[in-house]
Amino acid sequence: MSNPSLLILPGDGIGPEVMAEVRKIITWFGDNRGLQFDVSEDLVGGAAYDAHGAPLSDETMAKAQEADAVLLGAVGGPKYDDLDFSLKPERGLLRLRKEMDLYSNLRPAQCFDALADFSSLKKDIVAGLDIMIVRELTSGVYFGEPRGIFEEGNERVGINTQRYTESEIERAARSAFELAMRRGKKVCSMEKANVMESGILWREVVTRVHADYPEVELSHMYADNGAMQLVRAPKQFDVILTDNLFGDILSDCAAMLTGSLGMLPSASLGAPMANGRPKALYEPVHGSAPDIAGEGKANPIACILSFAMALRYSFDNGAEADRLEAAIEKVLADGARTGDLLGEEGVTPLSTSEMGDTIVAA
Ligand code: ATP
Ligand code: MG
Repeated sequence: MSNPSLLILPGDGIGPEVMAEVRKIITWFGDNRGLQFDVSEDLVGGAAYDAHGAPLSDETMAKAQEADAVLLGAVGGPKYDDLDFSLKPERGLLRLRKEMDLYSNLRPAQCFDALADFSSLKKDIVAGLDIMIVRELTSGVYFGEPRGIFEEGNERVGINTQRYTESEIERAARSAFELAMRRGKKVCSMEKANVMESGILWREVVTRVHADYPEVELSHMYADNGAMQLVRAPKQFDVILTDNLFGDILSDCAAMLTGSLGMLPSASLGAPMANGRPKALYEPVHGSAPDIAGEGKANPIACILSFAMALRYSFDNGAEADRLEAAIEKVLADGARTGDLLGEEGVTPLSTSEMGDTIVAA
């Protein structure tokens, strides 16, 4: 049997710097655990624009469709600010998400004990926190028609439309229930069924899909209450299932409970391919961080944790993902810190590559 394929798209800014550390980890798994991948690397974002005049070539798009998983660094940077909208680096990433039809966006908010003090909240609130937000990513108010700015009488009106079909809700719900089966077996679905028709339909469809997952405990919450609960008592949650707009806000909120942007991975999953694996794109939550790009200061952990998610969700290797996460937990417990994880004075931060080496050693 051929090895599973992984397409690496380092992108711009700190993307290539953090991806270089992931390459070390992949090599380690090959040398020490017999895990072999067919790795290929290509361009996305500003780097692709510089090479081909487009932020994602058709050829790269085709490779992404074929790959068992795609791992992306980051796109964008001030150099590309004046480009035409359709040529902007971010369009490369949006094209990947759209053409791969990645409808389920997974964002874990997990607190590494060693960083619990560092978090903006009190340690007892976040220590041991481990939740996963599943955000519907391809529909809802960001895409619904009609949309635009129109003339109405003697003034203008800006319109967006919240729109969800039953099948769109169903596939996102299935993805959340499947995930919950592999975690704490709890799903909390968040919408505003008290004031939105789409929320009423959302609640109805999620409840119907739940019948296929009797082992999972389902609850419903209005999204505004959910936001409050997330800050007040986040450990009550396991998987949170929500729509595109609420998920955008709630996932940033949940993520920041745990520390730095440099620690946060994500996965975007689509429909199962012929081999049964979902189409998948893994990427750190952070952007290209132009302010520190090229300085060797970036924290590679978000990107390394994104690879751990790939091991777990695309390569059916939860045990090796656990091994990788445990190594990260250990180096943090031993005091390894990149600059973004340092509050106190007097500690010398590790460089990007030193952090990568430390994790490999662990
Ligand atoms: P985008 O528009 O792509 O989301 P952004 O400007 O909103 O980008 P980032 O590029 O993620 O956000 O950077 C936000 C801040 O966080 C910057 O000051 C950056 O230096 C810091 N930052 C982001 N990622 C990392 C990382 N991996 N390590 C250290 N600092 C980081
Ligand atoms: Mg941003």
